[in-house]
Amino acid sequence: MRLVVTGGAGFIGSNFVRWVLRTQPDVAVTTFDALTYAGNLASLADVADDPRHTFVQGDVRDAAAVARAVDGADAVVHFAAESHVDRSIDAPDAFLSTNVTGAGLVFEACRRAGVERVLHVSTDEVYGPITTGAFAEADRLQPSSPYAASKAGADLLAQAYTTTYDFPILVTRTTNNFGAYQHPEKLIPRFVTNLLNGEDLPVYGDGAQIRDWTAVDDNVRAHWLVLTEGEPGTVYNIGAGNERTSLDIAHAIVAALDADPDRITHVTDRPGHDRRYAVDTARIRALGWRPERTFDDALADTIAWYRDNEAWWRPLRDVSG
Ligand code: NAD
Repeated sequence: MRLVVTGGAGFIGSNFVRWVLRTQPDVAVTTFDALTYAGNLASLADVADDPRHTFVQGDVRDAAAVARAVDGADAVVHFAAESHVDRSIDAPDAFLSTNVTGAGLVFEACRRAGVERVLHVSTDEVYGPITTGAFAEADRLQPSSPYAASKAGADLLAQAYTTTYDFPILVTRTTNNFGAYQHPEKLIPRFVTNLLNGEDLPVYGDGAQIRDWTAVDDNVRAHWLVLTEGEPGTVYNIGAGNERTSLDIAHAIVAALDADPDRITHVTDRPGHDRRYAVDTARIRALGWRPERTFDDALADTIAWYRDNEAWWRPLRDVSG
């Protein structure tokens, strides 16, 4: 199989590329990535010399570059996106162009090239908040942030490709991921690297916002399963069911690093901050997926990885705070 992975130099994409090369000997991978502030070739250093891996620097907003990249591919997984909610509130432009237009250009290039399996990677944030229970795939989309709205726009485009062109695109909607190689602007790496740096942990508002935390290794396996065995044109929610508040996460990290709980501080909440996300995962479970990592084990491994890989995260913090 010739597989193209957009956004493969980012957090989930690089974990996915590494896993595919390690476990799928018959797959050749092309990583297509613009290397924005969030993309990092250091995240792919251990596969840089793999003869089955090719890196192409390119932007999903460049139709010609995307068309060249997907030409001859059997499958495409579209991870590339602007992914940080706070940045989407400060400057939505890149979220619109990359997450909506860029996704549309990837779908169109795949359709023209006749790519057999196309998987668009979305998020549980497209459903908006839910107080009790969990959203199923057919539920309405009601995104709150510019980030979530831009991802929802691409989900609807994917749906339109199925209906209009009979070109069925797979879609995943995943809960918050955590693990190695996640940019230190995101909650868990931010808290861990702040403590390693001797800084406080800034918790938004009362810290009672609930997210379902999925270990990136489990998410990567889920994506491979959907890509290879999912029903084309179908949406799959992915989530491990580890509901934790931001404050729970802060306390767990403080305890793991044997730090002072007074390091936890409360800062002004994010505008429009959703209180709880939750997704029903019956469909992906029916396909045979189960999370293999417990939250506690995966968090301990993640903390250990950041402790051992300061050379990876230090330059990213120095640049983007
Ligand atoms: P990330 O920010 O770590 O990586 C994004 C990657 O996309 C980077 O390598 C970046 O260089 C690349 N990119 C950005 N704009 C591009 C462009 N215009 N052209 C080409 N490449 C571009 O993101 P992530 O956390 O790995 O998320 C990957 C995907 O999963 C995204 O689509 C995101 O919406 C989705 N998602 C992430 C999470 C999570 O918890 N991290 C949860 C649900 C869904």
